[in-house]
Amino acid sequence: MKRSRQELCPEIVEVPLFDSRPSRSAIHPATVYICPSTGHADERLGGRQPGYVYQRDGHPNADILSEKCRRIHNAPRAVITSSGMSAITLGLISQIEAGDHVLMSNRLYGRSLALVDQELGRFGIAHSVVDMCDLQAVNDSIQANTKMLVVETISNPTLRVVDLQSLANLAHESDALLMVDNTFASPIVCQPFESGADLVVESLTKIMNGHGDVSLGLLCGTDASWDRVEYALSTWGWTSGPFDCWLAERGLSTLFLRMTSACKSAFEIANFLSKAGGVESVLYPGLAVHPDLEIAKRQFETHQGEPLFGNIVTFLLSDSTQAAADRFIQQATDIPFCPSLGDLVTTLSHPLSSSHRTLSVESQKDLAIFPGTIRLSIGLESPEFIQEAIKKGLAGLDF
Ligand SMILES: *Cc1c(COP(=O)(O)O)cnc(C)c1O
Repeated sequence: MKRSRQELCPEIVEVPLFDSRPSRSAIHPATVYICPSTGHADERLGGRQPGYVYQRDGHPNADILSEKCRRIHNAPRAVITSSGMSAITLGLISQIEAGDHVLMSNRLYGRSLALVDQELGRFGIAHSVVDMCDLQAVNDSIQANTKMLVVETISNPTLRVVDLQSLANLAHESDALLMVDNTFASPIVCQPFESGADLVVESLTKIMNGHGDVSLGLLCGTDASWDRVEYALSTWGWTSGPFDCWLAERGLSTLFLRMTSACKSAFEIANFLSKAGGVESVLYPGLAVHPDLEIAKRQFETHQGEPLFGNIVTFLLSDSTQAAADRFIQQATDIPFCPSLGDLVTTLSHPLSSSHRTLSVESQKDLAIFPGTIRLSIGLESPEFIQEAIKKGLAGLDF
């Protein structure tokens, strides 16, 4: 039987839309676009003509999503990547080369530290690690070849908040760039470009998509930092998929509502936990006992006249043992133990057995992460419901 091209792949049928305009973005899954001529292919692949040729080099759904994220962040430039980690890798790879030095916060996401330590180190990139809340220590750690400072707006899981403007100043005095991982804050809580950041990363997997069903990353930057970004993104192959971008675009449309609601609830839960039996201490940047309250108030966005402090609340059980943490997890049946954050519903994590399990006992202690440390990512349930769910978890531990 003859097998023609038409039988395998019928001619593209274009359905006329007449004057009907879809109210939502279309999904463009094509891996390749038809080139009408050699000149056309050459112009587009060479970047002299706008348009699409090959999905890894760019596709409409990534461009729609990156443009929306760029506007939310008030950023000059933005690209979407396959994950938060690839966004961080892209931010580094596009700016540094062998012989350069990178200064990292000691509280960074474990994989970010591993990236520089275990991976980039093999390519001749040096790094050191410092407490970015200690500006004198940061100043003392900057070397002649330091090209970048990497820090998180709100650290995991102890929720320390760094002074971004001072860090940007220190970086710029030494011709280095400041890259900020803003995942725990989101642009609703913090806009790092206003404080002088050069590159901003979000794991869209978390708060930005907010529905726990997509892995994607965002890298935003200034014009001056952008030379190699798009070329490196395509060449290293960290491009996103169209359907994931479309889902994240949908998730993004409720970001403001989700995050303002979750921040408000988180503040209530932090206050509730501060008085709850069985709880030794509570970490939340909005509490008077938090060491960075003043920085947070100055640096974070407000909503209806109230500062936003994020949707993550960390607390320490009075009985700080793994057994007590397990008991809390077994009893708090309405709060699933999901080692991530930013989902629609409230979830919990146990840093010592998940995100920070590979650290030495000494580093865990230095970072104030104990067997009884529990991190909550507050979702969209009512604060009353979340309080009841926590009370169930604390039953028998609330001596
Ligand atoms: C999750 C996370 C990342 C990595 O993002 P992925 O999308 O999982 O690759 C980076 N930084 C922080 C602070 C995170 O929480």
